[in-house]
Amino acid sequence: MSKNEVRRIAIIGAGPGGLILARILQLKGIEVQVYEREHSIDDRSQGGTLDLHVESGQYALRTAELFDQFLAHCRPEGQDMRILDKRGTVYWEEASSENNFDRPEIDRRDLRQLLLESLKANTIMQGHTLQNVERLDNGQHKLVFSNGVTETADLLVGADGAW
Ligand SMILES: Cc1cc2nc3c(=O)[nH]c(=O)nc-3n(C[C@H](O)[C@H](O)[C@H](O)COP(=O)(O)OP(=O)(O)OC[C@H]3O[C@@H](n4cnc5c(N)ncnc54)[C@H](O)[C@@H]3O)c2cc1C
Repeated sequence: MSKNEVRRIAIIGAGPGGLILARILQLKGIEVQVYEREHSIDDRSQGGTLDLHVESGQYALRTAELFDQFLAHCRPEGQDMRILDKRGTVYWEEASSENNFDRPEIDRRDLRQLLLESLKANTIMQGHTLQNVERLDNGQHKLVFSNGVTETADLLVGADGAW
């Protein structure tokens, strides 16, 4: 399917993966809708910190033109590593300088918030848990949500996380 034929892109999941994809698509002028099962960002604890590596998370944030916002929230910490046995014999030791920026930490909530704020209004449909997907004869996908809503999409992206 060419870019011109894809009219409706649906992303399932408003975690870091789904949100950053939506942001990059919008930067390129492509319409996108994100469906998220949670009703708000504070529906549940957002977990701890994520470390973003240069070649993956940091690269994605640069592509999304959000690297400065990331810098305002991240902390270059937790990058030292030491492996030892129960007797205290050290097998591996990696101490990094304070300026090491290989994989700084950011709170998952802060990351998600800055991504949410970067999107156009009404991009995210909260409270939409995808229950079933049906491929239609015309190549589209019929999305069925547990709240009774149904939608169709030309391209469906699963960004629903590790589970
Ligand atoms: C146990 C565990 C520990 C981790 N620890 C670390 C760590 O210490 N440091 C680190 O950097 N990374 C860690 N990670 C990785 C980090 O959590 C992931 O890289 C990051 O959260 C992935 O983002 P994502 O957007 O792909 O998925 P997620 O953050 O999981 O987001 C998926 C979203 O999809 C939504 N969703 C799910 N199912 C549906 C559905 N049916 N319909 C609609 N919405 C749906 C969810 O509510 C969620 O908002 C860990 C991951 C796991 C699983």
